[in-house]
Amino acid sequence: MLQQTTVQTILPRYQQWLKAFPDIQTLARAPLQKVLKAWQGLGYYERARNMRLAARMVCDRFNGSLPVRYKDLISLPGFGPYTTAAVLSIAFGQSYPVLDANVRRVLMRLAGTKSKENQTPDKSLLSFLSTFFPRQKAGEFNQAMMELGALVCKPRNPFCPGCPVQDFCLAFKKGEQELIPAPRARRSERIETVVAIIKEDGKYLIQRRPAEGLLAGLWEFPGGKRKPGETLEEALRREIREELGSEIKIEKLLLKVNHAYTRFQVILHAYECRLKNRPQPGKRPLRWVPLRSLRNYPFPSGNAKIINYLEGVSQTK
Ligand code: SF4
Repeated sequence: MLQQTTVQTILPRYQQWLKAFPDIQTLARAPLQKVLKAWQGLGYYERARNMRLAARMVCDRFNGSLPVRYKDLISLPGFGPYTTAAVLSIAFGQSYPVLDANVRRVLMRLAGTKSKENQTPDKSLLSFLSTFFPRQKAGEFNQAMMELGALVCKPRNPFCPGCPVQDFCLAFKKGEQELIPAPRARRSERIETVVAIIKEDGKYLIQRRPAEGLLAGLWEFPGGKRKPGETLEEALRREIREELGSEIKIEKLLLKVNHAYTRFQVILHAYECRLKNRPQPGKRPLRWVPLRSLRNYPFPSGNAKIINYLEGVSQTK
């Protein structure tokens, strides 16, 4: 849950999650759509899907208890070296170092490593860390390093005067704190998408995304990306023809939504439309859903903003 935001922001969501899935068995039995719905808005939906798969595997293979051997734990879906080391050290007191973005930055500054963050191999950071990694209380040490990075040794304006490891910090000695890690060139792609808001007999037409790929298994209003050279309306007609086998009459632009993902920005244009002919059954399930029930479905954040808008409009009527 913490991939894209802070602990403070995520706490209520974490509590809600624990209430919905209080133990591994409940999560293992839960329908995927319920799990995706509980994760809505947190991004990286693969994590929710993997957590459910891991819960199932724990029930099937490990008698319902999380395994405590590295090779067993890392075999579960979603458990890479970072999560495995974090769980084993923090939950089970085992001596594994954890490298997250915060810890990497602290280590690079302590060691005075001036390369880009993603160009410094884990191996060299772990080898440096091993020179002072404690034999006991690895979990507390790991959490202390993560907190140091999150609260003191921040990417910008690190608070060196209050830093407990200032005496050992090469970057501080050389006055190079803010040069480490070297900044990455950020490339934020802009993607224009169009969606059709189609309402008949008080119900909206939505469709499920494919089971694989970006935002897999979530629901959305039908539509897609604009291709080079197309107008927005041409793109919408083509997408609806391809996805539903239907022709549409575009009534008006309802709203424009901007949504930023980690590496790209989506500008979503939502048009009120009418179908000229019935949608053809395709590979992706379609549903007609009344406004009050749309929130029961997991939607990507951009589509959820459209639902907020539709609810706002219906309340003013
Ligand atoms: S002295 Fe400054 S740069 Fe060095 S670890 Fe502490 S906060 Fe980070």
